[in-house]
Amino acid sequence: MHIIQDLIPASARNRPGIKQTPRKIVVHETANTSRGANAAMHGRYVRGQDARNRSVSWHYSVDEAEIRQHLPDTERGWHAGSGNVDSIGIELCVNIDGNWAQTKRKGQQLIAFLIKNWGISLIEVTTHQQETGKNCPANLLREGFAAFKAGIGVLEQVKSETIEDEEVYVMLDADFASNNKAIEDVVRRYGVSDMEGKLKEGKLKQSDLFGTLAKAAMANGSSRRNPSDAHAGSVKKAEDKGVMSGRPGEYLTREQLASVLDRTGNLD
Ligand SMILES: [Zn+2]
Repeated sequence: MHIIQDLIPASARNRPGIKQTPRKIVVHETANTSRGANAAMHGRYVRGQDARNRSVSWHYSVDEAEIRQHLPDTERGWHAGSGNVDSIGIELCVNIDGNWAQTKRKGQQLIAFLIKNWGISLIEVTTHQQETGKNCPANLLREGFAAFKAGIGVLEQVKSETIEDEEVYVMLDADFASNNKAIEDVVRRYGVSDMEGKLKEGKLKQSDLFGTLAKAAMANGSSRRNPSDAHAGSVKKAEDKGVMSGRPGEYLTREQLASVLDRTGNLD
């Protein structure tokens, strides 16, 4: 399941931060049929000022190509009145230039994944209408919500019968800016061409990041046994005179530098 992390900042007032254990999934439609009103656009909306002013937030936006997550499953959103409690809110996009059948399919895949992940029963997959009476998700209600749910049940069964090798993607957590910077620096300096872009889009595989971290560690030379040609003579002299020894590629700490200076008579 590829889920793009598109989280509402923790400081935003439409991310109240109330912890929950998800017991229910509430399905919505965006009711916005405009061209381009896809998951990315709704991600920008829910992270923006208008959503804060209107006190609205939900967990996932789904279109025919993408699933974007705006809140952790374990935090309450504001999408279904009393139905907000212990629930995950999913918005299906209905933009005219999207593919509704594929959007539904992606929504079903996401729900199948979530109910397995959290041990939620199919009975607890509800609609905004069931929660508050609003005519939402309008298309699914017209087409028959039971049929939509039946599709989830089939996926759930297929999933449990096949062994899936799921890819894990790197998530940059908005609350840990210093970690993000370190990861971005390593990817920028040691990653191959498109890795930095993938990281920003939440499409970088964890296995690729590990490979890059290993490359960065090797480049820093900590495991090198022999000095490079340019330094070999000096290294040998330093060892012969007892000034310094150890793996040639390793960094020197301040205390080691003090000893080196002392041994070479620079502190007397
Ligand atoms: Zn709704």
